[in-house]
Amino acid sequence: MNRYGLIGKNISYSFSQKFFEDKFKKENIDDCSYQIFDLNEISEVERIFNSNEIRGLNVTIPYKEKIIPFLDKISPEADEIGAVNCVKITKGLKIGYNTDVIGFEISLLNWIETNRPNALILGSGGAAKAVRFVLNRLGINNKTVSRNGVFTYSDLNQKIIGKHQLIINCTPLGTFPDTEKHPEIPYEHLTSEHYLFDLIYNPAKTKFLVLGQENGAKIKNGFEMLEIQAEKSWEIWQQFL
Ligand code: NAP
Repeated sequence: MNRYGLIGKNISYSFSQKFFEDKFKKENIDDCSYQIFDLNEISEVERIFNSNEIRGLNVTIPYKEKIIPFLDKISPEADEIGAVNCVKITKGLKIGYNTDVIGFEISLLNWIETNRPNALILGSGGAAKAVRFVLNRLGINNKTVSRNGVFTYSDLNQKIIGKHQLIINCTPLGTFPDTEKHPEIPYEHLTSEHYLFDLIYNPAKTKFLVLGQENGAKIKNGFEMLEIQAEKSWEIWQQFL
């Protein structure tokens, strides 16, 4: 049996297990399993690495940065971002990758096509770093809005919102079950020229997206990004086996 799984904390809500179980069924893959590993401490990952059959892991909140010291190698992209969300275990080596990058990039480009609006990134965690990496690679000007950073939510006025027509929520605000929460931006200054992308996919339409749509903005959630990053993880796990 080849075992795969997701490590994180309080992640029973996660979509990944269902995604891979459905995939294994659909593609008649009967020698693989995918399970959730809810860890209280990142050091518990050693126990998983020591199990013979483990071939790959996805990594989510709050371990995308904390996993790095436990790895033998890390891809140049994941190294530059400082976050790993996919680990391949092969020939005794644990290798870290970042597939959020490709997931976000393809999902964004499927949506904005050739438009390159200035962007605001809300939050400064692991996902925000992957998003910034992609925006820089695409030549999209961007600013990070952070509670304690140089640029904060209270700086967001009509002029700033008008100048930044792509706004990406990289905070967990609005995730099930706290679905009434949302980033504190002045939604009333949004227009039909704005694009609001929420990395959250549960619920499908967060309060951030509801408020954006009510003010005329185009909206997209993180579901497609999640599917693309999961497929990319699978591709990495299957290479050079
Ligand atoms: P994270 O490392 O915990 O970072 C989240 C950031 O959000 C924090 O650094 C913080 O930035 C901000 N934040 C946290 N609590 C806040 C609050 N109460 N009010 C305002 N800002 C707050 O999490 P992450 O790994 O980056 O993930 C962020 C979200 O993206 C999660 O909901 C995750 O599920 C989602 N995600 C989705 C996908 C996908 O494939 N769709 C992939 C990755 C992540 P500041 O301290 O700078 O304010």
